[in-house]
Amino acid sequence: MSVNEQVDIGAAYLEAPEEEILARIAARKAEFGDRLLVLCHHYQQEATFRFADHTGDSLKLARNAAQSSARYIVFCGVHFMAESADILTGDDQVVLLPDLRAGCPMADMATEAEVAWAWQELAAATGGATVVPVTYVNSSARIKAFVGARGGSVCTSSNAERVLTWAFGRGEKVFFFPDEHLGRNSAHALGVPDEEVVLWQRGLPMGGNTEAALRRARVILWNGYCTVHMQFAAGHVEQWRQQDPTVRIIVHPECRREVVDLADRYGSTEMIIKAVADSPPGSHWAVGTEINLVNRLHLLHPDKEVHSLSPFQCLCSTMYRIKPAYLLWVLDNLAREREVNRISVDPETATLAKQALDRMLEI
Ligand code: SF4
Repeated sequence: MSVNEQVDIGAAYLEAPEEEILARIAARKAEFGDRLLVLCHHYQQEATFRFADHTGDSLKLARNAAQSSARYIVFCGVHFMAESADILTGDDQVVLLPDLRAGCPMADMATEAEVAWAWQELAAATGGATVVPVTYVNSSARIKAFVGARGGSVCTSSNAERVLTWAFGRGEKVFFFPDEHLGRNSAHALGVPDEEVVLWQRGLPMGGNTEAALRRARVILWNGYCTVHMQFAAGHVEQWRQQDPTVRIIVHPECRREVVDLADRYGSTEMIIKAVADSPPGSHWAVGTEINLVNRLHLLHPDKEVHSLSPFQCLCSTMYRIKPAYLLWVLDNLAREREVNRISVDPETATLAKQALDRMLEI
């Protein structure tokens, strides 16, 4: 079954009143006890989020999975996160994703075939320069394995600058997948001049670059992006500054560089959560990240003003597919000893992907 094929869970789940679904999930959780671990990403909707044993960003949740001895790990996030959990857990543990349509559009923008083709073209154009591949954790297990097999590393939004620094020490160039913006913001923060950063446009010969530009480049960025964070614009920052001179703007580094440059602070979801929590009562924040997290911060900190940076609902619609009815459906099936929506990475891919993940943890 591919990532996008989700069986119809039926009217008994989809049409049941929400209170009933929530009560049944709670009962199932109690029944499974410590044989079950429910992990929820910060962008998850509240109705599902309340059942989390652990909450976090993708890496923190993968670590929670790795440290757990639970037989069943139900990952309320997106596909690549469940893959990372499967890679880091034992063979006797089972990772399940409640709705298989919960993919990440950014991760889907870099397929192994496209990346392998680009890698060869780049090698031919740069005459054998040493290129170190780095992939954002928001990528498929196949891309992580590709990177692991070539001596590269995974990075997250909190350590991208550190991993890039490591990569510069190992080769002449870095090929960064799949998020253009995290790569660009991190290279800029490290002082890499703009003329040494090029964009590889997938589908175009040599990524749309000249041979001279590729030879000069230190950082080659894949042109993937997050459909949520791309919705924040420099104009939103300007609007907020006019409207509220005391506002502090904080954004995720998957936002465009002009947004990050205008913000007061930028960082991972964990860093955003901490910055708001640590700020004094009465602080005003405009936050450039997914709306479920912004709404939660608003509820958690009634003594502060927390708003979305954008006037529009910047929702991760794939993450939003993990509705309580799907969580219950997975749990009901487990109770009948049926493992539906299991996410399983083949051993060869898992070994190579783990090398790239372990390299990051060492860095
Ligand atoms: S918020 Fe962006 S990067 Fe994260 S899962 Fe959704 S589309 Fe992917």
